[in-house]
Amino acid sequence: MADTSGQLAEWLSAYNPDEITIGVVASHSALQILHGARAEGFRTLGIAVGEGRRKMFKAFPGAEPDEWLMLDDYKQMLDKAEWFRERNVIIIPHGSLVEYLGPDNFIDLQVPTFGNRRILKWEAGRDTQREWLELGGCTMPKLIDDPHDIDGPVIVKYAGAKGGRGYFVARNFRDFRRNVDLEEDFTIQEYILGTRYYMQFFYDPICDDGYQVEGMMSRDGQELGRLELLTIDRRDEANVDEFYKLGSLRDLRDMGLEPSFVVTGNAEVVLRESLLPEAFRLGEGAVAASLELEEGARGMIGPFCLEAIVTDKLEFRVFEVSARIVAGSNVSIGGSPYMNINEDNMSVGRRIARCIRKAADKNRLHDILS
Ligand code: ATP
Repeated sequence: MADTSGQLAEWLSAYNPDEITIGVVASHSALQILHGARAEGFRTLGIAVGEGRRKMFKAFPGAEPDEWLMLDDYKQMLDKAEWFRERNVIIIPHGSLVEYLGPDNFIDLQVPTFGNRRILKWEAGRDTQREWLELGGCTMPKLIDDPHDIDGPVIVKYAGAKGGRGYFVARNFRDFRRNVDLEEDFTIQEYILGTRYYMQFFYDPICDDGYQVEGMMSRDGQELGRLELLTIDRRDEANVDEFYKLGSLRDLRDMGLEPSFVVTGNAEVVLRESLLPEAFRLGEGAVAASLELEEGARGMIGPFCLEAIVTDKLEFRVFEVSARIVAGSNVSIGGSPYMNINEDNMSVGRRIARCIRKAADKNRLHDILS
């Protein structure tokens, strides 16, 4: 795997900060990224496979990119690195880009990319995620190593199953055995009963005002870095969200039905206000811990999401972290209850563009790109 960190300075030395183009794969959260980049005065580039994508953007002229790069396969982006760099392109990564390229190819992409792409390694594995989050002070759902020990509701998750596909709930070993696919790698987690909150934070290492993250040092030796809570969503998940309408779990099983957790959409939510200090403590811990993960780690930069369940004891259990913009933030393209307090018409996409704009003005792009 190429070490792109040393190359970043070389690439940036040829970049004109006044001519930056924001490039994004036209999927996932691209509408808000392109719309936000334009609002901050950047040129924009959409990258797509298939005319259907390009056509869809015609419905949203406010987000239509200035230029399109049409490909037969997203992996062709790897061969186009020079083409991107000649146009001063900064790529904004999202979940679909990483999925289309594959995590290793994404890390090897020879183009300046927003955020710290190496954090992906920690986000990608359930064990590394747990190490990171627990180091940051999050309480996670307990793990059950031996299925025979299941003695209350658990959720069984398959490795690499994005978006909850195939996950199931079991109350005991019998349930587990009836549903499990032993061909797949799985994890058994305590099922947390409560309400779900998918909190999209933003960590800006070059802002020295606002909610400062403690316990960490910036590159030039001063304590710096602002944590923001941009938006919170809740996923709509089929079919678990609607299951209660059909009766008890036993009735459902009699009908041969099992709850599933496939994401179909999102809705905006807010947290009870007295829970916000704890939410910030968790976000702050995740950022501070990200710098401790390995020697010389650059840590979390930009948007990240803590996926949590709040119990009736008002305690948070964090079950997952995403180290980038999440698609759930699309609920806030025109602002969120939290972002609107500080500025109208802000979105996570626009916040990314704002961060790039400020870094370019201060000649600090190297602090927010990789
Ligand atoms: P993605 O990568 O898209 O975030 P994923 O495949 O990693 O998804 P999770 O986010 O871990 O899956 O879980 C999918 C869904 O399962 C969650 O949105 C939530 O509804 C439910 N869930 C996950 N863990 C628990 C838990 N411990 N207790 C109760 N429900 C859970």
